[in-house]
Amino acid sequence: MFYNVNSKDLKKVIMYGKGIDYIDDLVALLPKPILPMDKYDPLLETYTLLRHDVDFSILNAIQMAIVEERHDIQSTYFMLHPNNMDIKSNYYGHIEGNKIIHHPDFIYHCKQIIDLGHEIGIHNDLVTASLGIREKPENLLYAQIEFFSENGITIKGTASHGSILARELGFVNYEIFSDCTRKDSETGRTIVYNDWSLQLNSLKMSDFNLTYEAYFTKRDTYISESRGKWGGKFPRDTPEWTEWNQEFSISNFRSMISSMAETYGTKKAQLLIHPCWWSGIVNGHQL
Ligand SMILES: [Zn+2]
Repeated sequence: MFYNVNSKDLKKVIMYGKGIDYIDDLVALLPKPILPMDKYDPLLETYTLLRHDVDFSILNAIQMAIVEERHDIQSTYFMLHPNNMDIKSNYYGHIEGNKIIHHPDFIYHCKQIIDLGHEIGIHNDLVTASLGIREKPENLLYAQIEFFSENGITIKGTASHGSILARELGFVNYEIFSDCTRKDSETGRTIVYNDWSLQLNSLKMSDFNLTYEAYFTKRDTYISESRGKWGGKFPRDTPEWTEWNQEFSISNFRSMISSMAETYGTKKAQLLIHPCWWSGIVNGHQL
């Protein structure tokens, strides 16, 4: 299915249940410049890296991408491949044998997002997929990068996905890379599940021409919206998020975002948004 919203009628995206206007209440108030992940420049004094993990809905992501383009904002959309565990098939594709077969509309949707000025990255669930498919993670990753490349898209970075299995077995998907280790976990440990085993920290990002993993880019502030709840970490005075979300109000939200530099000491921020919790407004109606 192709997405036919007429972009000139789509002016806003709003967070479900919270009424937050994505541009006016959030992005417009963040430290400047606002950049996609691949435009990160270590010489900048302040910035916000804008990241979208596309967990479920590619159509909500496209709505967000259209609205960003209308406001001259570029960001990065990380695409989540199926893992043959909790995600057998999705907007990205499905599994046949030991391969990911791409959804017939997937590349068209990625190109729509690229044509709007944004970057496409991989939302990395490779440890889960390796265990679910019983295939080496390097083969899965290489095939994905090749697929994008054959379609004219260069993948520069990944952002790790928090899968159900990752929580259950105590790994983080970025640990597939030797470049990405965790202080509190044994580097190079073996994960065994589903009659398959793999060794973490075994792949080198540069072998796949990857230049960044989103969790390892430099920042002093991390703001995340996940499952409709806000969270993150500031240089000082990080809110108690559980309480903060329970007492949510738009005015508190706006004042938190617009006073990030003075109140929290923010200079270099990363904002993570899950577009599936937001949708467009067309002619006064939320899509
Ligand atoms: Zn995710």
